[in-house]
Amino acid sequence: MDKKTSKSYDVIIIGAGSIGVPTAYFMAKAGLRILVLDMLPSVGQASNKHAIGGIRATHSDPSKIHLGNLSLETFSTWQDCNGDDIEWRRGGYSFIAYEDLHATTLKDLIAWQQAHGLDIRWLDRSELLNIIPNLNPKNLIGGTFSPNDGSASPLISAFAFHKHAHEYGAVFQFNESVLDFITTDSKVTGVKTNRGEYHSRWVINAAGGWAKPLSAKLGVNVPVEPDSHEAAITEPVARLFDPMIVDMRNRPGSENFYFYQHPTGKIIFCMTPDPPILGNHTIASSAFLPKAARRLIEVMPVLKNIRIRRVWRGTYPMTPDGSPIIGEIAGYEGYLLAVGMCGQGFMFGPGVGQLLTHLVLNELDDEDKMILESLSFYRKFKTEEVLK
Ligand SMILES: Cc1cc2nc3c(=O)[nH]c(=O)nc-3n(C[C@H](O)[C@H](O)[C@H](O)COP(=O)(O)OP(=O)(O)OC[C@H]3O[C@@H](n4cnc5c(N)ncnc54)[C@H](O)[C@@H]3O)c2cc1C
Repeated sequence: MDKKTSKSYDVIIIGAGSIGVPTAYFMAKAGLRILVLDMLPSVGQASNKHAIGGIRATHSDPSKIHLGNLSLETFSTWQDCNGDDIEWRRGGYSFIAYEDLHATTLKDLIAWQQAHGLDIRWLDRSELLNIIPNLNPKNLIGGTFSPNDGSASPLISAFAFHKHAHEYGAVFQFNESVLDFITTDSKVTGVKTNRGEYHSRWVINAAGGWAKPLSAKLGVNVPVEPDSHEAAITEPVARLFDPMIVDMRNRPGSENFYFYQHPTGKIIFCMTPDPPILGNHTIASSAFLPKAARRLIEVMPVLKNIRIRRVWRGTYPMTPDGSPIIGEIAGYEGYLLAVGMCGQGFMFGPGVGQLLTHLVLNELDDEDKMILESLSFYRKFKTEEVLK
């Protein structure tokens, strides 16, 4: 069958974002016939390009550690294996503690994280200041350091996955909205768009902030709500630090705050609004920068005169417990969810892509099965991951 003209595929992926594009890459590489549909004009134009690029395996849940490790392997070897510079940098991650509660929480996790294969250690105040000398030393207790984590450009990565998925025969169609599903008995066998109908053995919902209304077309209520977050980037300065720094403190109007120094020297920072701001908003607010800049200077006072170049706003597709929903739905054979990526969809993209490829090819190993059970649609959504 001609891959370029056929309207029947092994897998249709709805959404060419952080999840859909690497999934297309791994599936097409495995020889599957793939169609990716996106309502926007190009890859990565929704949440993907709003992500700041953090990639970590430093989590407090085994399924997320495993997905993070799979992704780190892909991102860190991408340029050597495929030739594209995706701005990968292995700067590590550091969760810093200025409060006893956070120090205790982080320290209590370390033995467990190490037992799950993470390279992570606790650094006391002076050890941490050796690695990040410009941290505000006042009341600093210490922090974790995971040297294998890093960062890359979300949009350049999406372009790279797209280029190679296309070379392996995946078909991408943009400016095309999926309006409904085609079902036969209890099977999902294709989709209807504003341009036509397509048939496939599998249909993957990777629609990010739109996953819920899309799934509702089948009568499946997925608990994913778009939740808007903002970020900012500064002018470039000489290298000051390497890791992504996560400050877990609450401040008026925000929960945690995180930032890193891009390979070009610019500082990129982001914070979690408190209370959450629901909706697919993409227009930057006037409230973000005054609060976030204060938090940046609080953690790293040396940055007090740095100039901000740009602020932007995007979406976390949030679930009630802060973890993704991945896998099958009983009674809807052929329908797969890869939704609710929260603030971690970029870092999980290649891991999720490999997992779904194994699922579709019926090649799941024990770790894949563990992830699918943990991130199942049928879990209770009661306990939040500590490092979400
Ligand atoms: C400020 C900010 C900072 C962030 N920082 C990080 C970070 O450091 N690390 C990290 O891992 N994550 C980060 N994230 C989160 C990350 O951006 C998301 O988790 C991730 O992009 C979600 O991926 P996705 O593929 O589910 O959704 P998306 O990337 O949004 O892709 C979904 C796609 O589906 C398409 N679509 C939806 N409905 C339809 C339809 N009916 N028909 C056709 N197409 C459709 C959309 O057009 C879109 O292109 C950040 C997010 C923000 C806003």
